[in-house]
Amino acid sequence: MISVIIPFLNEEQSLTELYQRLTAVLKKEFEIIFVNDGSTDNSLKVVQELAEKDGRIRLINFIRNKGKSAALTAGFKKARGEIIITMDADLQDQPEEINKLLEKLKDGYDLVSGWKKKRYDKKIIVYFSRLFNWIIRKTTKLQIHDINCGFKAYRREVAENLSLYGDLYRFIPILAAKEGFKIGETEISHALRRYGRSKYGFSKFFKGFFDLTTVLFLINFKTKPFRLFGTAGISLFGLGSAILVYLTAVWFSGESIGRRPLLIFGMLLVIVGIQLFSLGLMAELLVSVKEGKKKDD
Ligand code: UDP
Ligand code: MG
Repeated sequence: MISVIIPFLNEEQSLTELYQRLTAVLKKEFEIIFVNDGSTDNSLKVVQELAEKDGRIRLINFIRNKGKSAALTAGFKKARGEIIITMDADLQDQPEEINKLLEKLKDGYDLVSGWKKKRYDKKIIVYFSRLFNWIIRKTTKLQIHDINCGFKAYRREVAENLSLYGDLYRFIPILAAKEGFKIGETEISHALRRYGRSKYGFSKFFKGFFDLTTVLFLINFKTKPFRLFGTAGISLFGLGSAILVYLTAVWFSGESIGRRPLLIFGMLLVIVGIQLFSLGLMAELLVSVKEGKKKDD
């Protein structure tokens, strides 16, 4: 069985067509899980009417907007299918492309992400998205071109293992790869948004770079924070100490050093170094307490 999860926020004009095109494409047993992410237009009513006529539609309703991570998580929890598809509700992801994702899944991948190679969004969004994906390819081992494509196919186990909060849904392939799942990518065709408006502006990249830092930190140092802070701390401390040793030698040679900017710089490095070092130890303490608790449970 296939579960299609569709989060929507104010997409009243797309939903009926989306439903019709989906049912025309899906051959095997399926369910469609619509997740209303706090819509303020008629979207909820449209889906309720569809659900009355078709028992394969299930509806999750948030009375306020909680964001895509929460919507997807709720959908994953409810999904009964062995295979799960997620897609946007605005008809930019085209139901007819689902088979491409399913084919690739059959090749032995656990998660297949769509790649909108020709993309119909604002130019600036497209360029920044390319940059964002390039940075991801450089900073992680994942060779992916369109990480945040909403159109994805999952084996059930992948969805069960994801823990998403905030805007981390953007990084699902990285998080899944970290769990050891095999990630694939396949080109899909994309369409212009015909109805309604995009829910994200340029600010998503600003937030995205912060979130990427979080994700990189989590995948590399979640259980060993001291290695990061310790290394940085010792490096700064070492550099600062070297500067101070040098200034001490200068002082012994008879020159005054009290007014040299280098003195302040050296002291600053030593202090910041010690702080980073201690911060790393504190973080390590948190991890060890948390792991200890897990054992007790
Ligand atoms: N969406 C949502 N909750 C939000 C924002 C968006 O469920 O807080 C849905 C939206 O209705 C659409 C999908 O997520 O189905 C992708 O949003 P959008 O098309 O606005 O993003 P874009 O394609 O412009 O990146
Ligand atoms: Mg869209």
